[in-house]
Amino acid sequence: MTGAMAVLAVSFLPFFEAKNDAANFILSPPAEGATEAKAAEKPSLMVVEKCPICGGTGEIVLQEQDFGQASGRIGKLGSRRLKCDACRGAKRIERYVDLASLAAQVAKDREKFESTHLAKGDIPVGEAFVPRESYKDHDKRLKLVEKAYGKACRTCNWTGVEACKKCSGQGVRDCPNKDCKGGWAVTSTTTSVSRSKSGGSNRSYSRGFNSGSSRRYSRKETKVSVQVCPDCGGAGRILCPDCGGRRAAPCRKCQGLGSRRTSY
Ligand SMILES: [Zn+2]
Ligand SMILES: [Zn+2]
Ligand SMILES: [Zn+2]
Ligand SMILES: [Zn+2]
Repeated sequence: MTGAMAVLAVSFLPFFEAKNDAANFILSPPAEGATEAKAAEKPSLMVVEKCPICGGTGEIVLQEQDFGQASGRIGKLGSRRLKCDACRGAKRIERYVDLASLAAQVAKDREKFESTHLAKGDIPVGEAFVPRESYKDHDKRLKLVEKAYGKACRTCNWTGVEACKKCSGQGVRDCPNKDCKGGWAVTSTTTSVSRSKSGGSNRSYSRGFNSGSSRRYSRKETKVSVQVCPDCGGAGRILCPDCGGRRAAPCRKCQGLGSRRTSY
């Protein structure tokens, strides 16, 4: 991604307006028989995006490399095509919208909501707006309007979600396997090999000082084994296990409501 933040298809403006309409019913109830107003609902924050592990291809192409395991091997190094573990080849995953863009969007929508009502001459009551004609000073019901609208949760600012701290809202983390080198798990085992080398015939006494004895020597042998990393399936990165790659989770402060209850 380059430069400007992605434009979100998510807008909170209809939500702010629907909430405001509902809160104002306290002052001017809808006409008898009118269809019941729909509860203000937050827009869905889930999107289907290209799998961030395979880039939307559904597979991981892993180039074979010489980590020392192939010494003496004849043949060229090829590449392996593996099904992406993260999306299981589906190419796409469902996740929350990018939270930085979302925060910017909500701020923009809130600003628009406020400026529109102020321009109409509406009076702010808490975070709601009441039309000037239905506003009366010291009207006890104004408190109810304020309460019905609610206040933004300080943690998530209306969105009801908070970024995963473990992946900083990216949904992706480096492969946790310390032996993982670009998707290959490279392990080496060093063993001490002890061998004996027979130095001539035991039967002869006429040979030199060393002859007849069997010399032992040891040398270290390192064996490198390479396999597709079982932790990341060759990708070198994984979907964050804490948020499942979704970047975020429902806000714990408000249980995902996005607002806090006002108390009087
Ligand atoms: Zn994938
Ligand atoms: Zn919250
Ligand atoms: Zn790995
Ligand atoms: Zn996470």
